[in-house]
Amino acid sequence: MSDLTLAVASGKGGTGKSSFASSFGVTKEGVLLVDADVEEPNLALLLNLKPLESSLVNLQIPVIKEELCTRCGKCTDACRFGALNMFGNNIPMVNDLCHGCGLCSLVCPTKAISETEKPIGEIRHYLSRNIELLEGRLMLGMPNPVPIVEAVVDAAMAIEKPKVIDCAPGTSCPMVAGVRKADAVLLVTEPTPFGLADLKLALEAIIPLKKPIGVVVNKSGIASENVEELCRDFNVPVLGHFPFSRHIAASYAEGIPPAKSDPLWQQKISDIWNYFEERVAK
Ligand code: SF4
Ligand code: SF4
Repeated sequence: MSDLTLAVASGKGGTGKSSFASSFGVTKEGVLLVDADVEEPNLALLLNLKPLESSLVNLQIPVIKEELCTRCGKCTDACRFGALNMFGNNIPMVNDLCHGCGLCSLVCPTKAISETEKPIGEIRHYLSRNIELLEGRLMLGMPNPVPIVEAVVDAAMAIEKPKVIDCAPGTSCPMVAGVRKADAVLLVTEPTPFGLADLKLALEAIIPLKKPIGVVVNKSGIASENVEELCRDFNVPVLGHFPFSRHIAASYAEGIPPAKSDPLWQQKISDIWNYFEERVAK
């Protein structure tokens, strides 16, 4: 098996993205699962895994020395995240929007800004029942998931194994951060009007990254939106239809990934993996 890194994403939440990610985990032996849906990581819970170890993810946050600060405002002007505010003649105050980019300390003419570490989340490592998982987890109350997504993807990329990254839903920065380092992207959609609208947004966000993309239609049969027509317009293949099944849903609710409860799912998941391996090898 090659060291393919496949991102599993979806424009819309609730399409069943994690059921596909977990199905790759139980179908392709030796795959490292990466839970990059850091605001709601659920693979460990679903697969009933216990953490082996965890490490904090820190941001470098500015600290301003009052006696050196001339209140010139250059740092607040430079910060493009609105993370520094200055009121009256007080020194700038740092808020939770800080991305730890370090620009403010570079522009400060009096070297009044140093940095301190602030924990914003953690990476947990799970290994049991032949499943290995790295999970990013944003701390409660922290507003910016992107540094945690980047940290867990970077930690995974350092491990020489094929990988499946379960990305955040949506089409904004956390999803793109999860997809950016992958070799290929599987987009999970459902044949509803919302599913189709969000698939279009997801395709528009991912196609510029110039990676092989494939689409799967989950819960096919629950509605009749024409996913094929949209995918044809974007020149992206539909790699499979996965009909809604009460039996699969009930097993999934008990922590059994669909590929483990249904041989047809297992075969299709294996075929999709092989498709991407071939595309990436070309
Ligand atoms: S480190 Fe970057 S994001 Fe944070 S306050 Fe400074 S300029 Fe703004
Ligand atoms: S750039 Fe430096 S001196 Fe100017 S307001 Fe910011 S911390 Fe103070």
